[in-house]
Amino acid sequence: MNPAVTDATSTPPKVNLLGMTRSQMEEFFVSIGEKKFRAAQVIKWIHQLGVDNFDEMSNVSKALRSKLAQIAEIRPPEVTYKEYSNDGTRKWVLKVGENSMVETVLIPAEGGRKTLCVSSQVGCALDCSFCSTGKQGFQRDLSIAEIIGQVWVANRSYFEENQDYDSRERAITNVVMMGMGEPLLNFDAVVPAMELMLDDYAYGLSKRRVTLSTSGIVPMIDKLSEVIDVSLAVSLHAPNDELRNELVPINKKYPLKELTAACRRYLSKFQEEGGRRKVTIEYVMLAGVNDQAIHAKQLIQLLKDVPSKINLIPFNPFPQAPYGCTPRSEILAFQRTLTEAGYICTIRTTRGDDIDAACGQLVGKVQDRTRRAERWQQKLKAGEIVRSVQ
Ligand code: SAH
Ligand code: SF4
Repeated sequence: MNPAVTDATSTPPKVNLLGMTRSQMEEFFVSIGEKKFRAAQVIKWIHQLGVDNFDEMSNVSKALRSKLAQIAEIRPPEVTYKEYSNDGTRKWVLKVGENSMVETVLIPAEGGRKTLCVSSQVGCALDCSFCSTGKQGFQRDLSIAEIIGQVWVANRSYFEENQDYDSRERAITNVVMMGMGEPLLNFDAVVPAMELMLDDYAYGLSKRRVTLSTSGIVPMIDKLSEVIDVSLAVSLHAPNDELRNELVPINKKYPLKELTAACRRYLSKFQEEGGRRKVTIEYVMLAGVNDQAIHAKQLIQLLKDVPSKINLIPFNPFPQAPYGCTPRSEILAFQRTLTEAGYICTIRTTRGDDIDAACGQLVGKVQDRTRRAERWQQKLKAGEIVRSVQ
């Protein structure tokens, strides 16, 4: 048979419903001659109940279920590696293409809070000097399904042994777009994914509990405030342009003056809350680099007109990192200076150390292991290591 003929008549690829917002799914149902309200039903099954096959959707007619099974699918990213830590941290490495992996981490806290750290890109183009994701370079943007799929996978991990739909509760309470990648450089996928996080028919998280973290892509901060209302975190890491140019190179394009002005504009969009809203300022503690008393003073000055709370992040070392983490006593002293100046200043607790849950670390290790396994396989095939196996 002529293969070209086979191609022309082969069935088209199935539509992945996982990555559709409610309005996109409504359009989809209308386009296949069905009623709009099906979208709300199906979204609930997918996102609230963690279902990935149409047969389980008992309030959808059998005829529609089989029609859907022919043209659509619910396809989450493939989990290549997962690890659950003793402190409750859970971590997944997801395969998102031939040689691409991203990670997502769930961090529990007191009071039942479960925060999921979600990735937006494979690698990152911005090359911050202290970031292992930046060292990988940029590979590609994640799709809406690959982004929301991380929330889906994490949520479903709590349903796995629970057959009873009625007792399935949404497990994730908070999402931070603080995994791999720069979310504002994948705007068109990140915004719809966050819409699903906020949608009551999907994850129903409050806008305070969905946080986008950016290294400071100024025009996109403005654009964000026009389309969705979520919490904003800014990776500042340095209180003056000279140092920030070195640590966060995108600062050369969007310097501090422009960035702080963008933060103020973002907050001013949400004035109805009586000015209580704040931007979270992330500040990684690099020993001897940005952690001196002078830096704390400059930070106080820089942020005086930006309603903000500051989160100090102990630096997570990775191989070849040119930095060390500030000693605990000095982090505490830095915090004290900021608190005394009237700021809310917290120190991020490092969780999941036993499974490398700290930013960007696990993918590197899994990739190393995969490469090692591949090399091993090749050598085995070539007969090079027969003796060592015996
Ligand atoms: N690209 C976005 C979001 C992902 S990075 C951003 O930069 O904000 C999430 C956070 O982890 C950022 O604040 C980033 O600066 C921080 N981070 C990156 N590498 C780190 C490391 N080795 N140790 C501690 N924090 C790190
Ligand atoms: Fe990219 Fe954020 Fe890492 Fe900078 S810190 S390289 S922006 S992921």
